Amino acid sequence: MVNRPGRDGSFRAFDATAQGSVNWAGSPCKIGAAIRKGGVVAWDALEERKDIIKREDEQMSTQLDSAPERILRPPEAPARPVERKALTSSFAYPRDFLGNRFVYLTISPRARGLSIGVNLNPDRKCNFDCVYCEVARAEPTVDEIVDCEAASRELEATLALLHSPELRNRAPYSTLSSELLQLKHVALSGDGEPTASPRFLEVVEGVVHIRARGLFPFFKVVLITNGSHLDDPEVQAGLRLLTSRDEIWAKLEAGSQKYMDLVNRSSVPLEKILNNILETAGKRPVIIQSLFCSVEGHGPSDEEIQQYAERLRDLREAGAKIPLVQIYSATRPMHTKKVQHLPLRMMSEIAARVRHVAGIRAEVF
Ligand code: SF4
Repeated sequence: MVNRPGRDGSFRAFDATAQGSVNWAGSPCKIGAAIRKGGVVAWDALEERKDIIKREDEQMSTQLDSAPERILRPPEAPARPVERKALTSSFAYPRDFLGNRFVYLTISPRARGLSIGVNLNPDRKCNFDCVYCEVARAEPTVDEIVDCEAASRELEATLALLHSPELRNRAPYSTLSSELLQLKHVALSGDGEPTASPRFLEVVEGVVHIRARGLFPFFKVVLITNGSHLDDPEVQAGLRLLTSRDEIWAKLEAGSQKYMDLVNRSSVPLEKILNNILETAGKRPVIIQSLFCSVEGHGPSDEEIQQYAERLRDLREAGAKIPLVQIYSATRPMHTKKVQHLPLRMMSEIAARVRHVAGIRAEVF
């Protein structure tokens, strides 16, 4: 059982196994399943989810990017043999490393399609220890630190592959729709916190250099971060290299230190995360990412959701530009029974609370 708000705004007991909610929460996995099977187009899963959310809340909107068409031949693949599994999984979405060490492809619901990821944390170390994190830290690592030259070569090769007919000859991409195969962004991400990498600035330089050479259609860069290092001078130098079309997606999943200690399990205080988001979002828009889950059978309380929404309101009132809050839940299969996804209804209620209290657009993914 979890809590859900009643008409007066107070949360009440709610059966987390309610039909429909569980069905919806499984939708993102359909996308992964389609990739794993090399099977049918998974775009329907996104549309299905959108429709459900629209019925519950009519304020949903979409932001789709388009890219100019240009065909290039892919350069040769990196020479070094790689002991990495072709398909690995993180947060329930398969990542296809294409034989690379650092650069992978994935279909991401929050990207609304194909994303290239650059893993800045091959050592799988993170300064958070999120209760829902699915990074397999116990498994042996291939690299301890990102090799910037290799990552740049891999990114270039991957971009070339995406813009060549060759992608269609590879499973599992041969049966996916053209829409699903449009590149939505290049994500600076990782099996840890990307901005904690001592090579963060170098990686950003490499990515924007490839973009500036104009060999490929323009691609958006998205930094996916837990926000803890946004105040580092090197990170700020990297952010200055990004354009206004690039995005920062920053994690905020608690309104109180107590709840952050339960979910994110980090020595970085909530206050620092809020300050870093405020400082960064004062200069450029920051999209907030919030994963809510149930821990040992309990979802976030009404009081916690209220505090979370109030922190967002405080940020907005202090001048933070937050165009969107992405609300989503842990996806299955979970690595521990201790953590479970929240039903769609509860995530929709959290989104409604954000809109009502903070006055910020919120979408459920
Ligand atoms: S911040 Fe990301 S990588 Fe780090 S523990 Fe949390 S979910 Fe995992």
